[in-house]
Amino acid sequence: IGIPRPKLLYSVDMEEKKSIEKVTLYARRAFVTHKTKGYEFRKSQLKGLLKFFEDENDELNRCVYQDLKKPTSEWVVHEFIQVTKEVRIVLRNLRSWMSPQTVAKDVVNFFDQVKVQAEPYGVVLVMGSWNFPVFSLFMPVIGAIAAGNCVVIKPSEHAPATANAIATLLPKYIDSECYPVFLGGVEETAELLKQKFDYIFFTGSPQIGKIVHQAASQNLTPVTLELGGKSPVYIDSSANLKLAAKRIMWGKTQNCGQICVAPDYVLCSKEVQEKFLKYAQAALHQFFGDSVRTNSDFGRIVNQRHFHRLTGLLRDQKVAIGGPNDPTDRFVHPTVLTDVHPDDAVMQEEIFGPILPIVTVESCEEAINFINQREKPLALYVFTGNRKVKKAFLRETSSGAVLINDVLMHSVADGLPFGGVGNSGIGAYHGKQTFDTFSHKKAVMERGTSMLIDKIDSVRYPPYSNAKTRL
Ligand code: NAD
Repeated sequence: IGIPRPKLLYSVDMEEKKSIEKVTLYARRAFVTHKTKGYEFRKSQLKGLLKFFEDENDELNRCVYQDLKKPTSEWVVHEFIQVTKEVRIVLRNLRSWMSPQTVAKDVVNFFDQVKVQAEPYGVVLVMGSWNFPVFSLFMPVIGAIAAGNCVVIKPSEHAPATANAIATLLPKYIDSECYPVFLGGVEETAELLKQKFDYIFFTGSPQIGKIVHQAASQNLTPVTLELGGKSPVYIDSSANLKLAAKRIMWGKTQNCGQICVAPDYVLCSKEVQEKFLKYAQAALHQFFGDSVRTNSDFGRIVNQRHFHRLTGLLRDQKVAIGGPNDPTDRFVHPTVLTDVHPDDAVMQEEIFGPILPIVTVESCEEAINFINQREKPLALYVFTGNRKVKKAFLRETSSGAVLINDVLMHSVADGLPFGGVGNSGIGAYHGKQTFDTFSHKKAVMERGTSMLIDKIDSVRYPPYSNAKTRL
């Protein structure tokens, strides 16, 4: 392209908008050398990524703690193990995923070579979210590198310690021209989105997802949008209520409830509610003892804006389980609300915090209607021991995923696609599906040139006759 080599690829100065253009330009220049396409290069970069996770484990753990007070166990289980496992899965399968796939042939193509070749899109943008600042960023990045793309990596500015660590440390492990890290907030990201990308993978809210989609449409850039929304839980009277309460309260308190697939609200009957409250209280005590506030196994809300948003949702609500909240360190006590009305503020937006409203319903049908009158959720949780109830939810509702008798666990099942539908997202990923997401499936045909094939082909050439086209 004829531009000088970059001095600094991973810090963008807004004074000089051109530096934003340069990030994509340098990545494009790297892509047109074709070096990201070779198997050995992809493998070496993925190994570099694995070494980055392993060697910088302590530093990343420290930064994630600084940003979110995330307990080390949650860092290890939700982020470190997941990304390292993903790289290993990709390394084991990369050669076969890259191989052209043969397809069925009909009589016309009998003598031809017909196959599907996965090719990289080119320069792709991956935008991560702050709640899992390593996992949400690198799960797609791993697949994008595996598929042979150049990747502009955009960590969330709301987890600044982790974002800075990634920008500083990652270039020691992987090629920084092919995989630049872009740091910036809303203004810089809006500018970045004016650049032409060949694919955009965004993790965040449905509101910003629409902005990203609109920006992508200017260049007809395909997108994956990993969004959020309210993931409902239905608890049937046939469920094991003690286990249900334990699992739901676990899902609601992991990462302080700041999980895209966190159980958002509960639908159940009055009778189930009473038992649920008793077991939920016992589960919280089992997890955090007498004081959640002083227990290091419980995290904090990411910033003051979200702390005040969450405590605002508690106004005029009936708190069945809860405790004092503290703005000084953004502590929101795990809270269960009862007698919640569907029109209440807490039922209008994704909660993204450790607050669990219960809306009472009379039946499974009423719960299904309630869910179907709202946006399609990212996850739907059904606790039941009744086959008919399970079948009814599977047949009559639509969501990114359905999990029966647990929460969250579907998101770490290797073989399952992870993604939303409708307002909760476009596209799905994890494992081979991430590789496919970042690959254009190119149809490739090679025809023979022998006289015999030309004779068989004669039917397509004029002059036409009935004899040629008689079936
Ligand atoms: P967000 O949508 O508020 O922000 C995402 C990013 O978009 C920001 O980091 C910012 O850089 C950029 N941005 C914000 N405003 C912009 C604008 N006007 N123009 C251009 N760019 C802009 O999301 P968040 O707060 O980072 O994450 C929370 C949301 O993400 C929740 O809704 C949650 O459910 C969802 N989420 C989804 C998944 C998933 O896998 N589906 C995972 C984690 C989080």
